[in-house]
Amino acid sequence: MNMISLHTDTRAHSHTAAPQLVDKHGRPVRYLRISITDRCNLACRYCRGQNSPFIPHERILRFEEIEQIVALGIASGVNKVRFTGGEPFVRKGFLPFLQRIHERFPSLDIRLTSNGTLLGDALESLKKLRVTVNLSLDTLNREKFAAITGRDLLPTVLENMQRMLQLGIRLKVNAVAMHGVNHDDLPALAALSMDAPIDVRFIEFMPMGTESIWSDDTFWPAASILADMSQRWQLLPATHAAGEAGPARLWKLRKGKRLSVGHMGIISSVSQCFCSSCNRLRLTADGHLRTCLYDDREYAIRNVLRRLGPEAVRRILLAAVARKPVGADLLARRHGPVARKQMSAIGG
Ligand code: SAM
Repeated sequence: MNMISLHTDTRAHSHTAAPQLVDKHGRPVRYLRISITDRCNLACRYCRGQNSPFIPHERILRFEEIEQIVALGIASGVNKVRFTGGEPFVRKGFLPFLQRIHERFPSLDIRLTSNGTLLGDALESLKKLRVTVNLSLDTLNREKFAAITGRDLLPTVLENMQRMLQLGIRLKVNAVAMHGVNHDDLPALAALSMDAPIDVRFIEFMPMGTESIWSDDTFWPAASILADMSQRWQLLPATHAAGEAGPARLWKLRKGKRLSVGHMGIISSVSQCFCSSCNRLRLTADGHLRTCLYDDREYAIRNVLRRLGPEAVRRILLAAVARKPVGADLLARRHGPVARKQMSAIGG
């Protein structure tokens, strides 16, 4: 891993308003994605190597440290934070932490990415916190779910999904599209959007991590997904409020007179990158900043925070964002996986 540790001076800023996070291409960074833990109760074959060791606990950011980094981000223009993992709910104390973040930053747009297996007891609280949940679900076939994830937990996920809908929690379903693994399950997933206010989004399989099952054969591009869906439904491009759709292109599905309540979406992270509108910054569970999913350059801030304090981290945030690369260039130049780190360690 190529780690960059910028030790900048720690003099406090004299400004009243902190400088905002903008990169050299003029892209403002407003969206911080934070991996709460690299641990997960599932072992999805496309995400995590079967023998990959977990990060030792002492190297994982403490909740108070994550909160400090969120505060720094907000002071520099971040208005949306996603908590991901690993599986965020495997980490003890995650829900109280989330409640604290909501209380301290009431106008922050808080999102969650989860596999949906451990949400049961947390659902009422998530509703109160007005959190939007991205549920990762790659198939509705129970045997296949077990084969992909290593656990027979599809009924639990579906039950939690139903409860979220009943509670009115804003919900998106994300599936990684993989040829020969689940490409034939995608229409059934898309059909979830017919009767419920769910956006079902298909993510192109990204060549991440050296242990991934990614290959030219498993890659199932947006064009193929679209062609398949077009044979089953009439696709009506959707217009969305600014910032709502993110990198997804969305469609309403129509069959005869029936129009979908939700949307079908495609995130073409490989065949058509969305770098020009990328406003993201990632924080790994062990306290490394990553300015592009496809770039292995990381900025080690955990020890800087522990030894030098938040002002030093603020300077690193600004310097890192200024050097945010264009992922499409890295993808075009790749030989093998575009990034060595696997997705479970980065957070997706
Ligand atoms: N455990 C949580 C979950 O299952 O959603 C959060 C972590 S998971 C790493 C975040 C997202 O990354 C999931 O939607 C997962 O499907 C996606 N993901 C993992 N590996 C991927 C890959 N190689 N290409 C595209 N998406 C991937």
